[in-house]
Amino acid sequence: MTKVYEGELWNIQSFVSGFENNAYLLTCNRTGQGIVIDTPDQPFELLEAAAITDVQAVLITHNHMDHLQGIEDVIRQVQAPVGIGAEDAHALTSRPFGEVDVADGSMVSIGDITLRSIATPGHTPGSTCYMLPSEQPGAVPHVFSGDTLFPGGPGKSGSPQAFDQLVSSIEASLLTLPERTVVLPGHGQSTTIKESQTEFSEFRSRPRRKDLFGDVTWTGDNS
Ligand SMILES: [Zn+2]
Repeated sequence: MTKVYEGELWNIQSFVSGFENNAYLLTCNRTGQGIVIDTPDQPFELLEAAAITDVQAVLITHNHMDHLQGIEDVIRQVQAPVGIGAEDAHALTSRPFGEVDVADGSMVSIGDITLRSIATPGHTPGSTCYMLPSEQPGAVPHVFSGDTLFPGGPGKSGSPQAFDQLVSSIEASLLTLPERTVVLPGHGQSTTIKESQTEFSEFRSRPRRKDLFGDVTWTGDNS
């Protein structure tokens, strides 16, 4: 477990399991209520932390298996409703404790935590990022970016069309967030919106193939 952020209102912990996936647990300091983001395989550390947290919702960034393999274990323990983008929801066989609305722009409020859902299609059709707005002066905003945005580039895309859609989602909905926003992806290290804006402007300023897709980096040779 790594403590990602400790704020006045809430804190964020991260847990690595499965295919080096990051799961996150947000906890409201006042109420002890929490939100789980993503459920990779063998989420033992996550479950340990969730056992002392009153988890009220489980939010999924997208329906690739590595983000979902632990969902039954998590749901069995926390008995909470699940949110996933509508276009990705077919991957879930059942949601015995109900559904959370994560359509673009919808708010999920648990204790003093308010997350805003941001639809970012491209990596998958229903990919959804979750933005933790800062309600307090001094609090640092965070966005849970799933496999949509990483340090140095976008997530993987399956076709040139999907790549264009992914880039449009990132440009319109993520790079417009406050620049001090910390980006917490579904694998690996964090970055910031400011850092991503700088990398992206380099990508924009250089020539690139029309049929680009797959594992693309912002600053690599894409010509
Ligand atoms: Zn993925």
